[in-house]
Amino acid sequence: MTLRREEWQGIVRDVDWTLGYVDDEAVYPDWLSGTGKVPREAWSAWEESYKVAYPEYVATQDEKETSAYAVKAALSRSNQYEQLDEAWRSSVKMHLGGIALVEYAAVYGESRMARFGLSPAWRNMAVMGTLDEIRHGQLSLSFAHELVERDPQFDWAHRALLTNDWVAIALRALIDNMMIGGSVVDIAIQLPFAFETGFTNIQFVALASDALEAGDVAFANLISSIQTDEARHSQQGGPTLEVLVEHDPVRAQWTVDKFFWLSARAFAALTGPSMDYNTPVESRKYSYREFMEEWIIDQFVRTIQDYGLKRPWYWDEFIEGLDVWHHSLQMGEWFWRPTLWWKPVGVSPESREWLIEKYPNWDVLYGDKWKLLAENINAGNMHRALPETLPWLCNYCHLPTCNATYGRDGKWRVRNHSLKHNGVTYHFCTKGCRQIWWEDRDALNSKTVVERFLAGMIQPMDVPGILGYMGLTPDVMGDDAGAYDWTEAYAKTEPVVAGVGG
Ligand code: MN
Ligand code: MN
Repeated sequence: MTLRREEWQGIVRDVDWTLGYVDDEAVYPDWLSGTGKVPREAWSAWEESYKVAYPEYVATQDEKETSAYAVKAALSRSNQYEQLDEAWRSSVKMHLGGIALVEYAAVYGESRMARFGLSPAWRNMAVMGTLDEIRHGQLSLSFAHELVERDPQFDWAHRALLTNDWVAIALRALIDNMMIGGSVVDIAIQLPFAFETGFTNIQFVALASDALEAGDVAFANLISSIQTDEARHSQQGGPTLEVLVEHDPVRAQWTVDKFFWLSARAFAALTGPSMDYNTPVESRKYSYREFMEEWIIDQFVRTIQDYGLKRPWYWDEFIEGLDVWHHSLQMGEWFWRPTLWWKPVGVSPESREWLIEKYPNWDVLYGDKWKLLAENINAGNMHRALPETLPWLCNYCHLPTCNATYGRDGKWRVRNHSLKHNGVTYHFCTKGCRQIWWEDRDALNSKTVVERFLAGMIQPMDVPGILGYMGLTPDVMGDDAGAYDWTEAYAKTEPVVAGVGG
């Protein structure tokens, strides 16, 4: 007799047994399973809201794979790629270099939960999560592989995360911390909850809508297929958080706060510039800030409050950062463009108009800087629009310390927040990074590129030496996406500084 699904599912989803030959602690050591103050038996309450059995999983994944690769094959025979805007292609390169191998790092995170999670239902979910992340890594690399022959920058889909490029160092600092270090209770809060429930919607759903607007059906197909898996396995976060909040609310709050912050910094460096700069003006539907308000501020905050947590302590600094972080990072990325594996875009007059409409303070903070860059280029002074040294990098997020403010005195300043510890001065982009670094100070050991430079680890100590250290070769080094066409319109406007061309 064959049982119906509802008859067997409740039995198979949490099959467990009592160990007879070894201690529970030997199989689930606390440094890996991370139960801490949570009693061992509390984990039996762990329950996912959307239940999937393995045969259903396999059938669904098979359909998704077939359709994702069929769409990919059909589009590769079309001339879709040729019609894409160069700046948009950079969003795709940035995504693939920044994410493809991160999908593999997520395999480690998921497989650790599959082995050390203290509930059998959780371990089952994580087995499917592991298979999901293998699929994402493979799909992303296969997508990039096809484009390498058209543009060598796509090779960085596989290479970026293995280099000492500053973006890769920043990503590894985040991802090692989030997906690989720590116990599985930490991983479940950090990865499926804070990162996947909170943030990947922005990159995988919101950016997919920009991709369709920009005419990139292939990329929209790739990331949408991936997101359907994320939506399922990210639900490992909620039940883990629920158990943790009940027994150790302080740890729960801290872990969510910390990884929400770090995710927000990383997304400001990658997703923010993709949406507000690399997407062609006519294809931009919502601004990064608007997406963040809808997906993160409304949805995520409601979610954490449902679990009995408070808004993070740094909330005001985070909200203010929505008008500053990604704009400052975009300007930094453009200026240090030889250090990237994509081509950042400048600010055309149409783009500037759109930015001012979406961000009323944009012109005050950034307008004259972009104009001055354009004037230098128009006057033939390209050396004034290219780096001669490195920007200071934040000791926690490893991103440039470049957040601009206008003080009450009307002066433009780049904020640096520092602290002294054991006789060494550390620098931070924000108060949030400084605070989290302080709590984590004994667990951190990754030097920023600037510290490596000052320690003599980068030779010769000049820009070519830095680019060599980062693994950048002339064929992949970033340059302006539009061959500086955006600067032409500025030739007709009043100069920012009289005689700049001289
Ligand atoms: Mn994934
Ligand atoms: Mn995932």
